Amino acid sequence: MPIPMLPDFVTSQVDLTPYNTLALPARAGFFARIHSVEQLIALVRHPEFIGRRRFVLGSGSNLLLAGDFSGFVLHMDIPGKRRISEDAAYIYLAAAAGENWSDFVAWTLASGWPGLENLIGIPGAAGAAPIQNIGAYGAEISDFLHQLTALDLASGETLTFAARDCAFGYRESLFKREGWHLSGRYAITEIVLRLPKAWRVRAAYGEIAAELARGGIRNPTPAQVAQVISALRARKLPDPRQLANAGSFFQNPKVSAELAAALQHAHPQLPCYPQPGGGVKLAAAWLIEQTGWKGRNLGPVGMHEQQALVLVNRGGASYRDVQNLSRAVREAVFARFGVSLTPEPVVLADQRTEDRGQRTV
Ligand SMILES: Cc1cc2nc3c(=O)[nH]c(=O)nc-3n(C[C@H](O)[C@H](O)[C@H](O)COP(=O)(O)OP(=O)(O)OC[C@H]3O[C@@H](n4cnc5c(N)ncnc54)[C@H](O)[C@@H]3O)c2cc1C
Repeated sequence: MPIPMLPDFVTSQVDLTPYNTLALPARAGFFARIHSVEQLIALVRHPEFIGRRRFVLGSGSNLLLAGDFSGFVLHMDIPGKRRISEDAAYIYLAAAAGENWSDFVAWTLASGWPGLENLIGIPGAAGAAPIQNIGAYGAEISDFLHQLTALDLASGETLTFAARDCAFGYRESLFKREGWHLSGRYAITEIVLRLPKAWRVRAAYGEIAAELARGGIRNPTPAQVAQVISALRARKLPDPRQLANAGSFFQNPKVSAELAAALQHAHPQLPCYPQPGGGVKLAAAWLIEQTGWKGRNLGPVGMHEQQALVLVNRGGASYRDVQNLSRAVREAVFARFGVSLTPEPVVLADQRTEDRGQRTV
């Protein structure tokens, strides 16, 4: 219900279960449905908002709710996408924070602007995409992001961040590194992408190449690559609308070259991916599968039978259930391989503690 002192787009005591794809139960003290930048600015200046905790919410597809949240949840639902301009080398496109990312990719392809096809099918809102530098099938949004606009929720100032200032890494950005994604420091209102006009599809990635070869496609168009990836994703990943989940629950761990070599000696099948800056990335799904957790449940949660990396809620799970399974899987992987797994989703907890999220699951 609306609150007298606050604008009518703010309601109180809102059930967040439908707003997180893992379907964990929690309530928001205040819930603001943001449809425009003007609404956001009005809220930020409101005396009832100042000094309260806040959290910026997209589609909740990378989120673990650790319990009720007494502050403001700002649900970013700002619509809009447009072609801004072009020069000899690039086309510049904008997506407002609330645009569905995958629909935006489909729109670019339908408009004849290739580049983003490998990122089709990633759930979530455009405004959330830079937070963990979304990536899949050999591409990341940082390959294309030109700049983003954000509102500082403390000062009300509008800022532009150039891509080079966002400190992007593997599932990493300045926003995560500084903890701003947990403290609700900035709300990203728009992202601008820069797509090269001279574009060659990236179809060499193992699974894409195999799928194209199976279909007898030699020189795939961007639309064909998108089609293949959509089909692969639908086959491998459970649809949160049918089976609640938050996508990959653990990041692929990066270890030293020495440890990777020792592990590969003991386990010749272990997939290893040497990284440009040193170190080796291991496939977390493979490690989990070796411990026997793939397809196994613990209470109402489990690791998915097709994709060991995806933790699923089979119905009625609590945050405690998720914690228990996460711990069990991490301990099993550590005991077998001496490798620590780090959860990927963001944890929203009521008390502000140092990086509480990553350590409590
Ligand atoms: C089935 C499935 C498959 C997935 N596959 C992939 C994949 O292939 N690759 C990949 O990288 N990820 C993947 N994910 C994770 C997820 O899709 C991405 O992390 C996505 O960017 C999250 O978007 P969201 O809108 O749901 O963000 P939310 O979960 O709502 O929020 C995530 C974080 O972003 C912050 N945030 C959200 N919107 C804004 C904003 N406008 N301004 C500032 N901060 C904001 C939140 O505060 C939070 O810290 C998958 C998830 C699922 C469920």
